[in-house]
Parts: sequence; C-alpha cells; structure tokens
Amino acid sequence: MKLTKILIPYETSIGERRVSAIPETVKKLKSLGCDVYIEKSAGELSGFNDFSYIENGGIIISNNEIDPWENADIIFCIHCPDEEKIKKLKEGCLIIGLLNPFGNKDLVKLLSDQKLSAISLELLPRISRAQSCDVLSSQANIAGYKSVLLAASELDRYFPMLMTAAGTVQPAKVVVLGGGVAGLQAVATAKRLGALVFVSDIRPAVKEQVESLGAKFINLPEIKEKPSESGGYANAVSSEFLAQQREILSKHLSEADVAICTAQVLGKKAPILINEKMLENMRPGAVIVDLAVAQGGNCVHTKQNEIVIKNGVKLIGASELPSSVPYHASSLYSKNLISLITPFINNGNLNINKNDEIILGCLISHKGAILQEKVFEIGGSN
Ligand code: NAD
Repeated sequence: MKLTKILIPYETSIGERRVSAIPETVKKLKSLGCDVYIEKSAGELSGFNDFSYIENGGIIISNNEIDPWENADIIFCIHCPDEEKIKKLKEGCLIIGLLNPFGNKDLVKLLSDQKLSAISLELLPRISRAQSCDVLSSQANIAGYKSVLLAASELDRYFPMLMTAAGTVQPAKVVVLGGGVAGLQAVATAKRLGALVFVSDIRPAVKEQVESLGAKFINLPEIKEKPSESGGYANAVSSEFLAQQREILSKHLSEADVAICTAQVLGKKAPILINEKMLENMRPGAVIVDLAVAQGGNCVHTKQNEIVIKNGVKLIGASELPSSVPYHASSLYSKNLISLITPFINNGNLNINKNDEIILGCLISHKGAILQEKVFEIGGSN
C-alpha cells in the first residue's frame, strides 16, 4: 500500500514564524496512515523543536537527504511555496495553504504546467461545516487581539479609566473599522483593557454583536443603497456610500485615541475609511493599526510592516500579526488543516472528493485543470 507523504516546509517568507503543522497534528496524520516529513527547524520559531516532531512520529529532513519536494503527495504550507520549489513537485501533488491566488496569473500557469492540485484556504466556503477548517478566522482572531495590544503599547495614554490621588484619567476611545472576526476580537480586547469602543461595519448583523460586547455601533449612511453580502462576505459599497461613511466617521476619529482598521472586501482593495483630511483632524499621539494594509489599507498612508508618523499620528501597517503569536497561530492553523483533510484520508490514501461542498469552494486546480478561473482574474480596485 502506498502511503500519502505529507511535507511540512520551513516557511521562508520574511518575518514568518508560523509552521503549518505542530507535533500534535503530525501524530494525528500518522494515525491516519500518512508519512509526515518536516523540514529541519520548521517549527522552531513557533516553539516546536525537531525532537518534538520525531517523538510524534514525524521524519525530520536534513539537507543531504533526497529532496522531499520531489516526493511529496501533499504540501501543507502557510504561504504558497516559491516557483523553484513548485517546479520540483510531482504531477498530482496537492498544495494546501494560503495561496493568495487573486489575480496571480503566474500561479495559474505553474499549477497547470506542473499538473498540480491546489486548495486555497482563503476560498473556504463560509458554511457551518467549514468553521473548524477556517484558517482566515483563526488567524484574524489573533490579529484582532494583538492589534489592540500593539496600539496600547504605542499609545501615549492609558486605556482604562483610573482614579488616582493625582486625579482621574479618562478611558481611551477606540474606533474599530470593520466588525468581522478580527474586529470583534479587537473590540473584546479593547473592552477588557477598559477602553470606550465604537465600531463601524456595513453588515447590519454586526450592530447586535458589538453591542453584546459592550461597544457602540456607529450608524451607517442613510442612503438608498443597502450594503449586501454574499457567501458570508460583505460586498463592496459604492464610492458615494463610502464618502458618506467617511463623513460620519470623521467626528469619531477626531476624538479617537486609537483606530483599529479591519474592513475588507474579499478579492478587492480594502475600502479607504480614513482619508488625508480625517488624518489631519486626529489628535497628535493617536495610533492607527491597519490590519487591512496588505489589501491597500483602510487608512491612506499606512505602509505594510512600517510605522509612519503623519501629523503626529502613528500609523502602523500590521499585516503579519498572527505570526507574532506563532505558538497559538500555528496550533490553530494546523488544527484547521487537519479538520479539512481528515475526511479525505483513508488508511493512508488520499482521495479528495471534488464534489464535496467545502472542496468545491476552495480547490483552485485539480491535476493541472484550473477550476476557479475567476479568482485568478480578480484583485482589482474597489
Ligand atoms: P472580512 O475580513 O472579509 O471583513 C472584515 C469586516 O469588514 C467584515 O465584517 C465586513 O463587513 C467589513 N467591511 C467591509 N467593508 C466595510 C466598510 N466599508 N466599512 C466598515 N466595514 C466594512 O470578514 P471576516 O471578518 O472574515 O468575516 C465576516 C463575517 O463572516 C463574520 O461575522 C464571521 O463570523 C463570518 N464568518 C463565518 C464563517 C463560517 O460560517 N464558516 C467563517 C468565517 C467568517
């Protein structure tokens, strides 16, 4: 019987500290009958040393052995491997990870030329059954939590209200833009630190969610256009809607100590919710953490993984926060992957059911046949 060989690579993207499978999930994959190969030190930056993988049945690969990329049946990864590595993969190999396929024509060509299969976890359908596999949510949760800690440590003020002998300190005012997974976790974390929290989102369901966390919902523009959603994601709103939304947000931001930006629209540029004028009206010393920066950002002037100061306001472009909590980010990510793949492995044999609702949504290539052509074409403007 031929056992499925799974490769856990050392993630090479700059600043990446996560690993796609922790020792506990390696043990689970072994129990499903797979052989699991781990590149040397792959888990080290997340707190999992090579020995802990070996203890759980993994095989650590060192440089002088046969190239694992040429033999693997499945690659579990965080980010898409580079072209050189993809070119080594054998026909039919399945890559599973955050492949960022949007508008990536080079990836289409590679997958089809090499006759590879690929599951892009960004495209996982938002159905109840897929929740345990949802890496976007598990990682966004971490980003939301860490964004507030980052803001609190950069802010020139306290978060909580304090009554001291020297006088009373007012609580910080935090504005959260986008009340999805990251946004709601940011709200909960800011509340725990004692801030007053205000939230803007275009999905009406968010109002009740933020209020249940003790935050206030910022009313939406009262215009004819009603924001819509499809497949669990907000659809982009018109430029007229956005202009009015910014108008409403202006006053809140002029009084804010912190803004946490999480507003996104799948496969599109993030909406600009803080423009130049709004920035000018914010108080010096305020902090903006922009989690949407990889999609262009919700705030003008935020730059990916940089801190920029504008009129005394600190803009932090934070696209890699999950990686800053690598132990839990890796643990949750790898459990998500196990949930996804387990139904399709039987006695060490991989048999992906292309008609399964979850797989239908996120399988972008099957043995080189491109299944989601539209995804490779989107990625344009707002
Ligand atoms: P996301 O990262 O795509 O977007 C973040 C938030 O930005 C969303 O709430 C969106 O409505 C908001 N947004 C978009 N344009 C905006 C604008 N102009 N102004 C303000 N906000 C704007 O979404 P997400 O956080 O991943 O998830 C959104 C929802 O989907 C959540 O409620 C989550 O619970 C749900 N979800 C369900 C499943 C599932 O059922 N399997 C999985 C993941 C998420």
